[in-house]
Amino acid sequence: MPFPTNIDILPAASWLSLREGMVVIAGPCSVESKHQFEETARQLASGGKLSAIRAGVWKPRSRPGEFEGIGEKAMPWLKDSRAETGLPLAVEVARPRHAETCLKHGIDIIWLGARTTVNPFMVQEIANVIRGTGIPVMVKNPVSPDLRLWIGAIERIFNAGTNKIIALHRGFHTHENKTSRNLPLWEIPLELKKIIPGIPVICDPSHIAGNRAGLAEITETALGLNMDGLIIESHYRPDEALTDSSQQITPEAMHELINMALATSERKDISRPLQAMRERIDNYDHTLLELLAGRFGVSSEIGRIKRKKGEVIVQKNRQEHILNDRMQKSKSLGLSPEFTRKLLQLLHDESVNYQQKEKDEK
Ligand code: PEP
Ligand code: MN
Repeated sequence: MPFPTNIDILPAASWLSLREGMVVIAGPCSVESKHQFEETARQLASGGKLSAIRAGVWKPRSRPGEFEGIGEKAMPWLKDSRAETGLPLAVEVARPRHAETCLKHGIDIIWLGARTTVNPFMVQEIANVIRGTGIPVMVKNPVSPDLRLWIGAIERIFNAGTNKIIALHRGFHTHENKTSRNLPLWEIPLELKKIIPGIPVICDPSHIAGNRAGLAEITETALGLNMDGLIIESHYRPDEALTDSSQQITPEAMHELINMALATSERKDISRPLQAMRERIDNYDHTLLELLAGRFGVSSEIGRIKRKKGEVIVQKNRQEHILNDRMQKSKSLGLSPEFTRKLLQLLHDESVNYQQKEKDEK
């Protein structure tokens, strides 16, 4: 099935307050106690830069026996805190029952975590629960680098009648050697933006970096690539956090990071990611030139052999074979036929030059 072209998603600015055009969401990885959540939310809200507060109430844990969240018992704490800060609340849902609980307590925004997006049955069951309510939903990328799965989850939510959707980029788990917790693989969220034009995509540097030190660089790159905002984990006492302690930052550090991010987005500094892409283009060009030099070296050798044997340079059958073979290959690679034809003509002419030079030698 082709990718959808009719997913018409509302701009985030129509239902959230943005700062300098950016969605900024912060809050603890997990709600641990009434005091921890209220204190963190209060300090975060005092910066005046947030669009919403995140609150993990049900925590998907890889291993059993770890802190799995407070559950529904946390709902009154969340609502008390919202009354104080005035900021909308975002809560992760991993099962239909979680979505029902959020609707029951008037949670403003729900999100699907990376371990939920990966499961189409679960996404569909959650979509069925929220059908017709229009509740805003944020959809994290699946754990694996699978764009179709991410888009599929967004489609299921959209088909349930919600057009307030934000895609959350939290990086991808692969077995590659890596310095961050999850690889950003920036081309995937950028491709998503191309396939679903207008979808807000915001970056989750906390789960990409997995540590405090890496947050600033990921944040800068995300904004350099014109992502629509950030979701960052913050805890009033990060070292005591029951989950993701090493990547959470204090509300004060969060304010600094946001100020840096806003300054970066004002500068529209795209130099860093562009630089990396330019280096890739440089490498491709150097490789191409080296390959061409090798190819023409072979042409010269052929020219020498033809001279000895007294053969003509242009041989029709060979030329036709090359044309057919290369046109087919280029089609399978998605290159345009006009471009390939022009390139082949150039290569052919230059090969003939090389062979002719050999032939003209005494
Ligand atoms: C989280 O946001 O705390 C979380 C569980 O993240 P993810 O789904 O990205 O692993
Ligand atoms: Mn977390």
